[in-house]
Amino acid sequence: MIPIRKGKQLDMMRTAGRVASEVLQRVAREVRPGVTTREIDEAAAQFMAEAGCISAFLGYRDFPGQICISLNEEVVHGIGGDRRIQYGDIVKIDVGVIKDGWVGDNALTVPVGEIPPEVRRLLEVTEESLHVAIDRARAGRKLGDLCHSVEKHVLDNHMSVVREFVGHGVGRKLHEEPQIPNHGRPGTGPRLQEGMILAIEPMVNLGTEKVKILADNWTVVTLDGKPSAHFEHTVLVTADEPEILTWRERLAAV
Ligand code: MG
Repeated sequence: MIPIRKGKQLDMMRTAGRVASEVLQRVAREVRPGVTTREIDEAAAQFMAEAGCISAFLGYRDFPGQICISLNEEVVHGIGGDRRIQYGDIVKIDVGVIKDGWVGDNALTVPVGEIPPEVRRLLEVTEESLHVAIDRARAGRKLGDLCHSVEKHVLDNHMSVVREFVGHGVGRKLHEEPQIPNHGRPGTGPRLQEGMILAIEPMVNLGTEKVKILADNWTVVTLDGKPSAHFEHTVLVTADEPEILTWRERLAAV
């Protein structure tokens, strides 16, 4: 069963989403050449404490980080460590928080200085595919419509979607029903209803869709070493316009 949220529960989720977005944007501003990913993770811990929330990721299946921070060929689930951010990198930051028992989850990809045009396009296409999907998060539509729209936008731009990892319902727990793959068949799957809350998160590769997991058992990397991008929002299905609970202004193009 996909949970339906209303009333006070929705207010709690709106707060969790807003806080997740604020923390993510503060963390994103810490990204610059010379900083290690561990330093970013430590900054995230401080921002969460200041916001009165805790990480939804730390300790989840023993995940050791406050946030997921993944560079270049790393797709998702990177762990803060000694790797130093360099000019020309792309940095994926995924922030999930628990605020008063409710979870907000969001992610973005930050370019560090000048990046090659094809990588810039990768970021654009990934973020566009997120918003294409969000536009289909409407009551009465089938989940498969949303999933298919991501893959279509990506394939139309000659890039590939990661199939092994998926978006998810979110609420009391980080991962609730339904699973939200970034591919699917239109007209299939559950019918979306007002009050469902979806974490939609396209992961898009410039090269092959194939990925592998590193020896740390967490970090997902592209098999061909080419870059990957990731954007995510927590979205409420309403009777009308989808409501992005983790709303942020888009980062200006570099
Ligand atoms: Mg997520």
